[in-house]
Amino acid sequence: MPKSYADLLREARSLVPEVSPAEVQLLREQNPQVAIVDVREDSEWEQGHIPGAIHVGKSYIEQQIEAAIPDRERPVVLYCAGGIRSLFAGRTLQELGYTNVASMSGGFQAWKAQGLPWTAPVVLSHEQKLRYSRHLLIPEVGAEGQAKLLDSKVLLIGAGGLGSPAALYLAAAGVGTIGIVDFDVVDLTNLQRQVLHTTDRVGERKVDSARKTINALNPDVTVVAHEEMLTEANAGRIIEGYDVVIDGTDTFETRYAVNDAAVPLRIPVVHASVFRFEGQLTTFVPYEGPCYRCLYPTPPPPELAPGCSVAGVLGVVPGIMGLLQANEALKLLLGIGEPLVGRLLLFDALDGTFTELKLRRDPNCPVCSEAAVAARQASAPAAVASRANEPFVLGGLGSPGAPGVVALGGSAGSGSVAGGGA
Ligand SMILES: [Zn+2]
Repeated sequence: MPKSYADLLREARSLVPEVSPAEVQLLREQNPQVAIVDVREDSEWEQGHIPGAIHVGKSYIEQQIEAAIPDRERPVVLYCAGGIRSLFAGRTLQELGYTNVASMSGGFQAWKAQGLPWTAPVVLSHEQKLRYSRHLLIPEVGAEGQAKLLDSKVLLIGAGGLGSPAALYLAAAGVGTIGIVDFDVVDLTNLQRQVLHTTDRVGERKVDSARKTINALNPDVTVVAHEEMLTEANAGRIIEGYDVVIDGTDTFETRYAVNDAAVPLRIPVVHASVFRFEGQLTTFVPYEGPCYRCLYPTPPPPELAPGCSVAGVLGVVPGIMGLLQANEALKLLLGIGEPLVGRLLLFDALDGTFTELKLRRDPNCPVCSEAAVAARQASAPAAVASRANEPFVLGGLGSPGAPGVVALGGSAGSGSVAGGGA
């Protein structure tokens, strides 16, 4: 005898355990292993869902659930709008061999009615779905990650050799706000490596040239121009509100100013520098790894840190290092991968090799040590000044003698401080 809808529902109810929204909330908090699966249609999901839930529409559940939840022993709670579709989806999962499946009674309506937390995802436009389609295909990025990128703000210190490739790729990736600090104009000698700019813009302000290139590439991006020199006095004002800072400067004064402002604001700084055929890269995440002052308590004399205009640089080297900076920024923004915290990556273009050194925090750092934090909290100026007069010890980041540096093997660089960023 054929079964009626009522028979099927009764059967599903007898086989699939039901849990209340309050119980689901408790499970979420206590056991991160529990997978919450939303089986509603796309349009329902886009209007709001349980934070952290996985979306597998009931129409595709047989096709997609194994990819979404490969472990059939993993506890799964299914929900829909009212608690019926999820019961039937639960039966399907049981037939597919999932051993620990429950359905949330009352569905998302009951969840919301009980005041439990929910989130509405940013909905990408049709054009954005096309533009970012290769990101959307990556599970670690997806629509949620892309929305995060569109909502994030990255500040580039310098629209030069490092800033150019970083800006191009961050703009292409859909980082919604790109700030640029640069007070220079485009010069013919820049064009060998500063690929944001063009020959017909020689003499134009770099921030304007950068904005033109970025907006031509991706109109989703808002470019914020800071046409001023970043100093100790204005660094905090400029960098506040940004999620990540990309340091592409070639002066020690600016690096210190960026560092000393970023640490108290807890803003990560992705640092790189280049010298002829060599590049260096590390990511400073305040209080998680060393900061710039942990490595260089005081600036080296200028003759040990020649910029690109003095020492020269192979144009692709800042290109490569700038893209690695963009990569670090994207990882930080998306919360994926292992950022280069406490790790210095050295690139040798002639050998075609990357070498990694470990970097340590300086417990006496004038900016990020406990004492420095306490001093700031007591609203006394940090102890930076007290160390400013200490003699600089010869040796760059790559020198085994430099504070906080542990050589892991391989060439540690030329011994000169790679100084050029522009
Ligand atoms: Zn430090």
